[in-house]
Amino acid sequence: MFDLTPCEVSGCRRHAVWNSAVCTNHLTNFDQWSSALKQYLLSKNEFSSLVLNRVTFTQLDLRGKRFKGCAFLGATWQETQLDGCEFRNCFLDFGSFRDCSLQETTWIFCSVSGNTMKNCHWKGSDILHVNFNGLEAESCDFSESDLYFSRFNAGTLTDVQFRDCNLKKTQFIDTELININFQYSNYEEAEMHEEKDEL
Ligand SMILES: [Zn+2]
Repeated sequence: MFDLTPCEVSGCRRHAVWNSAVCTNHLTNFDQWSSALKQYLLSKNEFSSLVLNRVTFTQLDLRGKRFKGCAFLGATWQETQLDGCEFRNCFLDFGSFRDCSLQETTWIFCSVSGNTMKNCHWKGSDILHVNFNGLEAESCDFSESDLYFSRFNAGTLTDVQFRDCNLKKTQFIDTELININFQYSNYEEAEMHEEKDEL
């Protein structure tokens, strides 16, 4: 698992990012750092323990990459191709996804809470035990995915497709569901309300 090292700028409460002693805000050679990161990501297929908090990924082709125990807290993903990627034990909380392709991806024991997501395609993915709590999603497609034991609690989902999904133990508790398609999914096995102990 990643090491969270404080940014070395005194008073900064953020964490140092990959290959640096400072956070993304305090990188003085941002363009150089950014292009080194891009090269690094393109040069390998498997990564573990990376800290890429608050990094913006724009128009990258990261298809088929595997990430284990990595931190992408507050990251921004835009127009990025992540098809076939695998994320295990990764933290992607409080970030945003826009116009990304995430088809046939594998997500296991990850936290993706507090994200905003617009126009993202997750079709045919295995998304197991993943925390999407507080998600604000619009025009996204999770169809044909296995969402076993994943949680979409306390969020707002608008125009989202969950067609032909496995929703066993998937939670949508206290979530506003606007124009959602659950066609051909085992909707009855999802948990839509908190179970209350009977008196
Ligand atoms: Zn800093």
